[in-house]
Amino acid sequence: MTSDALVQLLYLAASVLFILGLQALGKVETARRGVVYAEIGMLLAVVGTLLHHEIVSYQWILISVVIGSAIGTAMGLFIPMVKMPERIALSHAFGGLAVGLVGVSEYLRHGPSISTLQMAATGFEVFLGALTFTGSLMAFGKLQGVLPGRPISYPLQNATNVLGVAVSVAMIVYLVLHPGAAGVFYALASFGVVLGITLVLPIGGADMPVVICLLNSYAGLAAAATGFALGNNVLIICGALDGGSGFILGMMMSKAMNRSFSNVLFGAMGSTPAAGPTATGQAPAAVPISSANEGSVEEAADILRSARSIIIVPGYGMAVSQAQHIVRDLANALALGGASVRYAIHPVAGRMPGHMNVLLAEANVSYDQLFDLDSINDDFVATDVAIVVGANDVVNPAARTQPSSPIFGMPVLAVDQARTAIVFKRSFNPGFAGIENELFTKPSTMMVLGDAKKMLGALVQELKGELKQAA
Ligand code: NDP
Repeated sequence: MTSDALVQLLYLAASVLFILGLQALGKVETARRGVVYAEIGMLLAVVGTLLHHEIVSYQWILISVVIGSAIGTAMGLFIPMVKMPERIALSHAFGGLAVGLVGVSEYLRHGPSISTLQMAATGFEVFLGALTFTGSLMAFGKLQGVLPGRPISYPLQNATNVLGVAVSVAMIVYLVLHPGAAGVFYALASFGVVLGITLVLPIGGADMPVVICLLNSYAGLAAAATGFALGNNVLIICGALDGGSGFILGMMMSKAMNRSFSNVLFGAMGSTPAAGPTATGQAPAAVPISSANEGSVEEAADILRSARSIIIVPGYGMAVSQAQHIVRDLANALALGGASVRYAIHPVAGRMPGHMNVLLAEANVSYDQLFDLDSINDDFVATDVAIVVGANDVVNPAARTQPSSPIFGMPVLAVDQARTAIVFKRSFNPGFAGIENELFTKPSTMMVLGDAKKMLGALVQELKGELKQAA
C-alpha cells in the first residue's frame, strides 16, 4: 500500500470514528464510549497527517506537540468544571487562530497562482478563523469578568455588523477573481478580527454559552474550509460535523431558555452572570435575608423521614459547592429508608448542556435514576418532597405564572407543585437571570440556607444516625 493510500485509509477510519463518537455522545449511557471513539479518531487523524509526504521537517511539529500536550493536560487537570464554558471559549479561540494562520500560510505558499476553489476556501477560512479567534476571546473575557458582562451596544450596531459581513463576502468574491490582491486578503483577515469583537460585545454575559456554541459552529466551518483549501478530507468531514453540531446545540439551548436564536444574537440583552442586573437590564430588587420559610437541617430530616416519593433537582449551586457526591449519599440514605428517589434534570441547569449529568456521573449516580424535564415534570404534583440543590431559575414558577417575567415561557421544573419543596442554597438571592423566585417564599417551601455540600453533609449524618438506631 502506498503511503498516500494509507493516509486516506487512516482519515476514513478517523471520520467514521468521529461520526460514531458523536452518535454515542447523544445518550448518557454511551457518552463515555463516544469520547473514546472521538479520541481514537483524533489519534488516527494526527498519525495520518504526520505520514504526509509533504512534511519537510518533524522538528517543529514535535516541539508544538510537546507544548500543546502540556497546555492541554494542565487545562484538563486544573480548570474546574464550573469554569468549563470559559475553557471551551479559550479552546475555540486557539482553534480559530490556528485555522486563520494556516489560511495565511496557504495564501503565502500559493501566491497569485492559487486555484479558484482554493482561494474561495482560503478566504472563508481566514475570515471565519479570525472572527472565531476574537469572538471567542470576547466570550471568554465576559464569562471570566475581565470584560463587562452587560451587553455593550452602540448606535446602528446590527446594521454595521451586517454591512461588515457583506463587505467581507464581497472581498472573498474579489479575491477569487483577483487572487494576487494581497492587500484585499489582509483587509479580509482584519475584518474578521474586528467583526469577532463587534458581533460578540453587544451580547450579554448570560447568553455567552449560546454564543460559544455558535462560535464552535464557525470554527467547524472554518476547519471545513481549511480541508477544501488543503485537499484534506478528514478536515472537511470533521469541520462539517463540528459546524453542524455547534449550530444545533446553540438552537437547543436557545429553545430551552425560551429565546429565539436571532434574539440572542441581535437582541443586545442578557444579564451579567450571578447577582448582576436582570435580563431586562434592571438591578434585582432587594431580597430579605431571612424569612419564615427558613428551616434547619433537623427540620428537613423530619420531613424527609416520612417522605415516600422524592425528586432531587440539582442546579448550578451543586456544581459550585461540588456537592454531587454528598447528593448521591443523601439519595442512598433516603432509599435505604424506603423512599423512591429520582433526579430531575433541566436541559439548561448549570452553565452548559449536560452539566448536571456529568457531575452526577462523576459521583456514580445510576443513569436510570436521571429523568429529563419532559418525562418527570408531571410527577411533581404526586411527589412528597422535591429537594432543590443550588437550582434557582430552572425551578422558578414565574416562568409559568407571570407573563411579565423575563423568563416567562421558559420550560421549568414544577417543584412548586410537590407537597413540600426543600431548597438548599446560601441565601434568597436570585440566580443567573437575576430575577426573584417566588418558590422560596411559598408556604410549602422550606429554605435550608448555607453551602449545599456542608448542609447536605449534616443532613446525611442526621439521617444515617437514625437508620443505625432503627437497625
Ligand atoms: P442559577 O444560576 O439560576 O442558580 C444557582 C443558584 O445556586 C444560585 O441562586 C445560588 O444561590 C446557588 N448557589 C451558588 N453557590 C452555592 C453553594 N455553594 N451552595 C448552595 N447553593 C449555591 O442555576 P440554575 O441551574 O437553576 O439555572 C441555570 C441558569 O443558567 C439558567 O438561567 C439558564 O438559562 C442559564 N444558562 C444555562 C446554560 C446551560 O447550558 N446550562 C447556558 C446558558 C445559560 P445563593 O447565592 O443564594 O447560594
